[in-house]
Amino acid sequence: MRFLKFKSKKKARKSFRIANSNENIRIQNTISDRWQIKLGKLGFFSVYNWRERLGLVRNAKKINSVTIYQDSDSNWYFSLNVESEIQTPDVEMNETLGIDFGLKDLAILSDGQIVDSLQTTKKYADKLARLQRKQAKMVKFSNNWYKIGKRINKLHFKIKQTRKDFHHKLSRYIIKYHDVITLETLSSKNVMQNAKLAKKTADQAWYKLKVFIKYKADWAGKKIIEVSQWFPSSKTCSCCGQQVKLDLSIREWKCPTCSTVHNRDLNAATNLKLVAEYFLQNRVEITTKEQFLNCCFAAGTAV
Ligand SMILES: [Zn+2]
Repeated sequence: MRFLKFKSKKKARKSFRIANSNENIRIQNTISDRWQIKLGKLGFFSVYNWRERLGLVRNAKKINSVTIYQDSDSNWYFSLNVESEIQTPDVEMNETLGIDFGLKDLAILSDGQIVDSLQTTKKYADKLARLQRKQAKMVKFSNNWYKIGKRINKLHFKIKQTRKDFHHKLSRYIIKYHDVITLETLSSKNVMQNAKLAKKTADQAWYKLKVFIKYKADWAGKKIIEVSQWFPSSKTCSCCGQQVKLDLSIREWKCPTCSTVHNRDLNAATNLKLVAEYFLQNRVEITTKEQFLNCCFAAGTAV
């Protein structure tokens, strides 16, 4: 789409929206039985990986609009806003899982699996920092400054894609093998205020991962329970319900009541799993701290 011109050089993302009226946005078959999409006056377009991408929206009740935008890799993309009815499948619920989002590791699952921080993006991040330093020394808006800017954009895009890919894989796995899943609500605002943690947190992008887990759960008819991040999931013994005082730096501790040695994050994930178990048995979601503590205590006395 070379004929598109935008006035603002500074606007981060070049994009425009076309509303659907009189079927000016529609999907249709071609003679060779491929699907194409009509985007208003721009005409018909073939879509890479059309079977998967257009298949998702082909049976939508209505296409509301399309947004066409240029991403940081300089390619043009479109995203459709559609209305559709998703029939949630009725699934038998058996498997529970608690997920603790950590700083040291991206996530700890209550089955003991540790999801590593995104080391995959580290090499890109280092390269990115180098380029940004280089650009900072150049004359602003000079040709070379723009050139480096382009490379920076490309790297940003690569990091974004790598991360997204990883989040999709992880969330797919979680939803495939579990039916009731407990997560903590997260307030990234609070974490972001801590300068030291900010970069790491941004990198880990818990929020995006959560979004993926939630919508995949919706589609698959699985249950997500969110409990307040202020519940003492790290500070409560998952074996006996005893509450302890813990500094952020303490990674491992021994329960003074039942002598169980806990890994901090795994213990938190186990407590979250207890909440999922509680739902499975009683079909009630835990909403208060008292209920949460009772639930941990009850699980401890039951064993
Ligand atoms: Zn204990």
